[in-house]
Amino acid sequence: MTLILPTFDDVAKASEILKGVAHRTPVLTSRTADSQTGAKIFFKAENYQRMGAFKFRGGYNAIASLNDEQRAKGVLAYSSGNHAQAIALSGQLLGVKTVILMPEDAPAAKKAATEGYGATVVTYDRYTQSREELARAMQEETGMTVVPPYDHFHVIAGQGTAAKELIEDVGELDYLLVCVGGGGLLAGCALAAKGLSPNCQVFGVEPEAGNDGQQSFRQGEIVSIATPRSIADGALTNYLGQLTFAIIQDKVTDMLTVSDAQLIQTMKFFGERMKMVVEPTGCLAAAAILHGALKVPAGSRVGVILSGGNVDLNAYAGFLSQTA
Ligand SMILES: *Cc1c(COP(=O)(O)O)cnc(C)c1O
Repeated sequence: MTLILPTFDDVAKASEILKGVAHRTPVLTSRTADSQTGAKIFFKAENYQRMGAFKFRGGYNAIASLNDEQRAKGVLAYSSGNHAQAIALSGQLLGVKTVILMPEDAPAAKKAATEGYGATVVTYDRYTQSREELARAMQEETGMTVVPPYDHFHVIAGQGTAAKELIEDVGELDYLLVCVGGGGLLAGCALAAKGLSPNCQVFGVEPEAGNDGQQSFRQGEIVSIATPRSIADGALTNYLGQLTFAIIQDKVTDMLTVSDAQLIQTMKFFGERMKMVVEPTGCLAAAAILHGALKVPAGSRVGVILSGGNVDLNAYAGFLSQTA
């Protein structure tokens, strides 16, 4: 089967669709970060995106790209994280009914936030029921369209608009660092980077404990791992997608990893120095440059995507109080 992959043109189309709907999030700099690394770092602050993470971009682009019949039947998604809220909010804005499948034991705050955006939340038992089978059964019954969190043409194109805006705002980059779960953000941002700044080297960053993407990249085939343990809860995927892997193989220079201790250091850095809350997964790319997983020549221009800021405040306080 040949895969139909999005291109830079699809990222450009997504940015038209998102114009006036998604926030054009700020690009922030820090003298401390620059002097620590010798580079010029540009942080793209998607923690300030609508619903608190870049996932709004892909979710909205995917629903906006449906035809009238598909829109009338509604959209189904399974997620307990940012993708759920992205689909719920996008459905609300576009007048499309959304149903989100969530595990019964998902945090009450996440369920409430998703319902607050107008989605219907259906819960399942993650120990006895397969969400894929459940989704398939519901889809057959209702004709709803499933929008997956990363391995989807319009989701990837939408996520790429984050890097497109970054490069439009600051100019060409030598390096771009992007966190990786299923690889939708990385794939889309790599398309944008290669389109607008062809010499830019793009790197993916994963938690050390969940380096399926690194293994896949280096072995040249998708490697599946057991659910990893890391505080980067947005990057606990077991494998890359078919589309995301194909784009990553073609456009990305390498995949790097960082430890949870480095993520905590980075969260503290953002709180203390830059006065902002970045969730653990959102710190992956920044941790790679701040803690030396990627070393760059002095004066290099480095883009870093901060993917989101949704973290339970009690958990956040716990991270900040760790001394490691
Ligand atoms: C989903 C998510 C990721 C991972 O994105 P992928 O497209 O699955 O690689 C990273 N950070 C945050 C905050 C997320 O919500």
